[in-house]
Amino acid sequence: MANGINELFDEVINRGLCAGCGACITGCPYIVAHAGRIVALDKCTGSEGDCYKHCPRTFFDFDGVSEAVFGKAYPGGEMGQVLEIFMARATDPEILKRGQDGGTVTSLLALALEEGLIDAAVSTRMDAEKAPHGSVARSRRELLESAGACYEVGFSLEAYRSLPAESTEKLAIVGTGCQVEALGKIKREPPQNSPDPRNIRFTLGLFCGWALAPGTFHPYLKSLCELSQVCKFEIPPRPRYSFEFHFENDREAGSVSLDVIKPHINSGCHYCWDMTAEFSDVSIGSAETFPGWNTVLVRSPRGAELLALATEKGILETRELPEEKLSHLKWAALQKKRAAVEKITEKSGSKNDLLHIGRPPEESADILSRWNIL
Ligand SMILES: Cc1cc2nc3c(=O)[nH]c(=O)nc-3n(C[C@H](O)[C@H](O)[C@H](O)COP(=O)(O)OP(=O)(O)OC[C@H]3O[C@@H](n4cnc5c(N)ncnc54)[C@H](O)[C@@H]3O)c2cc1C
Ligand code: SF4
Ligand code: SF4
Repeated sequence: MANGINELFDEVINRGLCAGCGACITGCPYIVAHAGRIVALDKCTGSEGDCYKHCPRTFFDFDGVSEAVFGKAYPGGEMGQVLEIFMARATDPEILKRGQDGGTVTSLLALALEEGLIDAAVSTRMDAEKAPHGSVARSRRELLESAGACYEVGFSLEAYRSLPAESTEKLAIVGTGCQVEALGKIKREPPQNSPDPRNIRFTLGLFCGWALAPGTFHPYLKSLCELSQVCKFEIPPRPRYSFEFHFENDREAGSVSLDVIKPHINSGCHYCWDMTAEFSDVSIGSAETFPGWNTVLVRSPRGAELLALATEKGILETRELPEEKLSHLKWAALQKKRAAVEKITEKSGSKNDLLHIGRPPEESADILSRWNIL
């Protein structure tokens, strides 16, 4: 059955499932992000749309997407397909300083640009008032400007969807799990009016527990501090339980309890099963590592080649991830799946209807058994 914008609103947006990935924007002239949510500018008469097809919150065919991304069926487990796991950090002091944790993402993008492996990197950049936007970086300077994490939903795949369809630029795209899932769907069924997804040479996925809803969180954040003076947001590791904002000058950092922040979590994030961005070439986070380092999961041969080049060139310093940290990472990734399944079941009203994860009972049961949570 053909599905388009009407079904996208009925099944995803109006049900509070939207992840804010931005994949549906600019594929068509009717959809825009406004005040932190997706809105329709006009009635679309088309019965079938890329907006519905590529949304990570419409049915996700795990095996089909995995075939398109990795050339094999979805293996399941806590973290999906993984070839190598280690810790890494940048050796370049400027990247270390500007990067969120170990600067691994920015280092890999800078290397790929420098080596001509890509022409541009699509990621997320904060404006002067610290609101996130999709951005396209074509130089080291632009890459440094988009380093660091914004914890608000950024709709940043809009930046890829806005590139001219005839563009032949080789791309790397950085995104959270939902964004990487949308890219997997795009690779499986290429869009009509965006660049050929074969131009995407690398997908760098970010670990993600949740993102904040810009509509309510941004005004709150604005009431806390002068945003133009903030140089970094941070959620430090346990046992601290806070959201912090740091300033350029020596001014003391601001801090709020996560209890105050959590009511601002984007509603769609509660239905997200993907903590480690399972459909990327390389996934990068800070969970279970040491301050100033990243946890790195290499998932594809092309990701492995990029990491090998980075170590050979001395761009990254790497270390083994201690076994107990890996076990905890797997546990946390599984907990996210369990929590998502619980929330999805609450929403659909039936254990046999897992919405985007699987609908007929056999499909739902199949994916749950691959996650070992039956
Ligand atoms: C919303 C969000 C939630 C996260 N939650 C977790 C978590 O629970 N556990 C964990 O281990 N790690 C989490 N991370 C990842 C972590 O914050 C770092 O991004 C990651 O460790 C990479 O560090 P780095 O030093 O290599 O990043 P950098 O080299 O600084 O590069 C960061 C990259 O992230 C991009 N980016 C910034 N904001 C966003 C955004 N909103 N959406 C998409 N891309 C963005 C930037 O453009 C840049 O390319 C989260 C990140 C985000 C954006
Ligand atoms: S999840 Fe992404 S593709 Fe789906 S409606 Fe939201 S922004 Fe659009
Ligand atoms: S929690 Fe999931 S849906 Fe929300 S931003 Fe992170 S990856 Fe996307």
